[in-house]
Amino acid sequence: MSASTQPDCIFCRIVAGEAHSHPVHEDDDVLAFMDIQPVEPGHTLIIPKHHYENLLESTPEAMAAVARVSVPLARALREVFSPDGIFVAQTNGVAAGQTVFHYHLHLIPRWHGSRVQLHGRRLADPEELAAHAVRIRAALRGGEDAIETESVQD
Ligand code: AMP
Ligand code: ZN
Repeated sequence: MSASTQPDCIFCRIVAGEAHSHPVHEDDDVLAFMDIQPVEPGHTLIIPKHHYENLLESTPEAMAAVARVSVPLARALREVFSPDGIFVAQTNGVAAGQTVFHYHLHLIPRWHGSRVQLHGRRLADPEELAAHAVRIRAALRGGEDAIETESVQD
């Protein structure tokens, strides 16, 4: 699957290395990185490298690649953050709350009593995001179902 780049798309710019992110996983088809405005610590996004506006524009193959990464990543979040649950969310269209128009799957650790919300209120401290990414990458490498991942770092 080739990465198609839309110059105005922030996630395409992240894939191309033109914009900064805190990546936790990269393979030929998929990139996963820390959400810059997390709802909870560990809030991570998984995207296909190819630009699809959302689920409706995507392909089953691209969605399979995203899903394949979601399993070890959810387990890594469980290991690092010990949440009570993990909320998986995905928006299609403005009416559904979509604000970045490049397909992305949210993985959001949740604790009993935390409010269900899709968007965090403030930008995270970059050092904290970097530290979380280091711990998630380590958990992905050491997990029972460690996945093939290129060696990503901040
Ligand atoms: P959605 O509302 O489902 O489109 O979610 C878009 C998500 O992308 C939000 O949670 C934003 O905080 C997140 N986001 C926007 N820009 C960036 C960025 N440069 N790096 C990481 N996450 C971002
Ligand atoms: Zn894009």
